[in-house]
Amino acid sequence: MTVIPGDPGSAELTELPEPAPKKGELVVEPLYLGVCGTDREILDGAHGEPPEGQERLLLGHELLGRVREAGGGLDAGQLVAGIVRRPDPVPCPCCAQGEWDMCRNGQYTERGIKGLNGYGAELVTIEQDFAIPVPGDLGTLGVLTEPSSILAKAWEQIDRIATRACSDHRRALVTGAGPIGLLAALMGAQRGLEVHVLDRATEGIKPEVVSALGAEYHSGEITDVAEQLNPDVVVECTGVAELVAGAMQHTAPGAIVCLTGVAASRSLSVDIGALNNELVLENDVVFGSVNANRRHFEQAVDALRRADPDWLRRLITRTVPLDNWTEALEKGNDDIKVVVDFSQR
Ligand code: BGC
Repeated sequence: MTVIPGDPGSAELTELPEPAPKKGELVVEPLYLGVCGTDREILDGAHGEPPEGQERLLLGHELLGRVREAGGGLDAGQLVAGIVRRPDPVPCPCCAQGEWDMCRNGQYTERGIKGLNGYGAELVTIEQDFAIPVPGDLGTLGVLTEPSSILAKAWEQIDRIATRACSDHRRALVTGAGPIGLLAALMGAQRGLEVHVLDRATEGIKPEVVSALGAEYHSGEITDVAEQLNPDVVVECTGVAELVAGAMQHTAPGAIVCLTGVAASRSLSVDIGALNNELVLENDVVFGSVNANRRHFEQAVDALRRADPDWLRRLITRTVPLDNWTEALEKGNDDIKVVVDFSQR
């Protein structure tokens, strides 16, 4: 699954040589590969960077694969997910400690996104330390490990920030009922919070999966919903300017607003003075969160194992064979997570 970054319409299925594992690398056969908004941006030519000296980027960063030959304590046949980011070469103090998700100099690389080939091929290599074992009982649901790792990191940060308050944060609002929003809602529910999810869909699978989680679904305006709920925690999962602005404005005192979405930039008129006053006078925190380190991938596997497998299964709404992989990036109305199935050729 390759693309020339910066060149929309360049996506194709390319014949590549078999990967030659270096010392300490595993050969992995991808089984399922999830696609997300980042892949769509790369296909549209808006994001992505090929490996140095190459024109095409091998796409794909949401891997569930099977280890072909044992290595690094992993048996042949073991299911694994692949970590996305690699530490910067300097390395900065965060990358030096394995916290590459917090890289301080921006020189990190990312498989399938920034400067490194991804996992969208029939055979790939992964450094042993960057392969996360996925228990067999999760099976194909292990393809949700990478997107879950993003929320495991976001919630870890929320939990840390919450310790400065004198009482628990109880009510969470999640904006967006795509895979990231629904996994955010899952982890909020697993923490025992009262969870609300806002999305523009008024019918279909999204309201159903939200209530199946014991959470409440909303489809109104962000300002009305947030004003009514006065949330202690907001996890913004769309990157849409109106929602980002709304998410910051109507919160409980001491609220934590975590921004996880990226979208096309759009200017919006917001009274920054009033927003400032609310943040200051209520001790609110607004922060951004991206990527995930090894600990978050492990937390993600844990969270997925504790979830109802039937609920998780409903998040995977479409499966596309490798030969038609670009169809996976087309946006269907009722799509949540779409995956490329490498066994169907
Ligand atoms: C990936 C992250 C990555 C981010 C920015 C997301 O889709 O899940 O791992 O850091 O894109 O490139």
